[in-house]
Amino acid sequence: MKEYDVLIVGGGPIGIACALEAQKKGLTYVVVEKGCIANSLYNYPLNMTFFSTSEKLEIDDIPFISIKSKPQRAEALEYYRRIVTSNELDLRLFEAVKDIRKEKKGFTVTSSKTVYSTKQVIVATGFYDIPNRMGVPGEDLPKVSHYYKDPHYYAGQKVVVVGASNSSVDAALEIYRKGGDVTMVVRGEEIGRRVKYWVRPDIENRIAEGAVKAWFQSTVKEIREGEIVINTPEVEQVLPNDFVLALTGYMPNFAFLEKIGVKLSDDGKFYPSYDPETMETNVGGLYLAGVICGGMDTHLWFIENSRIHAKLIIKDILRKYSGETVS
Ligand code: FAD
Repeated sequence: MKEYDVLIVGGGPIGIACALEAQKKGLTYVVVEKGCIANSLYNYPLNMTFFSTSEKLEIDDIPFISIKSKPQRAEALEYYRRIVTSNELDLRLFEAVKDIRKEKKGFTVTSSKTVYSTKQVIVATGFYDIPNRMGVPGEDLPKVSHYYKDPHYYAGQKVVVVGASNSSVDAALEIYRKGGDVTMVVRGEEIGRRVKYWVRPDIENRIAEGAVKAWFQSTVKEIREGEIVINTPEVEQVLPNDFVLALTGYMPNFAFLEKIGVKLSDDGKFYPSYDPETMETNVGGLYLAGVICGGMDTHLWFIENSRIHAKLIIKDILRKYSGETVS
């Protein structure tokens, strides 16, 4: 069996950045990705606009040209796909990593298709696969989703959007503008502070004029066929309802991290243990990269500030190989 210098789990922007850096530095590598190239971005809402300007999403200074300063999902897919294809990066797509086992030397990585041998592993699996569940009766009904794609589907329907972050606000506004009857259910007192500054006045004004209804300091109590029960500060509300979009955030796959031996903090945040200078975890030779590093604080890391991880990790691997500090 061929032994790689490094196996990268996850072909998102940061996994791709790691692959590019490994290739540039002459290391043998492979990326194993359970979906398509940049799978999380592919699954974002169709009309999504990034909060970052395009140059902040660039990897390895490869220009990211977008029509407006803040690119859209489709432009980001063009950009990251083009980096993969024009550099002929080795991505194994639609292949999920199931297990990573540390051996005396290196690792054995088992995927849904095969088994790999590698000296180092980089886990760059992001956080978009596991939604934060509300934990209420009816959450598993087919009319409930933790992902939003496109507003057309909801035209003429009574839709409850749970949450007040960027995802919730984008969905509420788009659905309202395509003829959906939207009610937001928001745990806090106001629309989220991190909502894109140019979107926030839009949603606040739609709520003020009653075009989008909103219950603040409120939570979903139960979802039933045809209706939803909401706990509000005053009384329990039972509203007629066709669809629920529970956009309550996502979390990294902590069970997978624990299974492969990465220590997590016990303060409820599940911060993984790693050296910020090298990104190496408590498991020697196993590195973390990208947004997975933030534990439950999924807003800590994003493409802008985690693209640097690729260079830190490859530098550390080269340092180990040379046995001396690489500047
Ligand atoms: P991801 O892109 O999530 O990539 C992880 C990859 O790992 C996925 O492709 C997944 O399929 C794969 N994977 C997972 N488990 C396995 C497995 N077991 N085996 C194989 N493959 C696996 N950041 C910014 O900097 N600017 C923005 O404007 C911005 N806007 C955002 C908007 C939204 C709606 C969201 C959700 C996030 C946004 N972010 C933004 C954050 C950032 O875009 C994403 O978190 C980004 O995708 C992180 O890159 P990543 O490579 O770390 O993880």
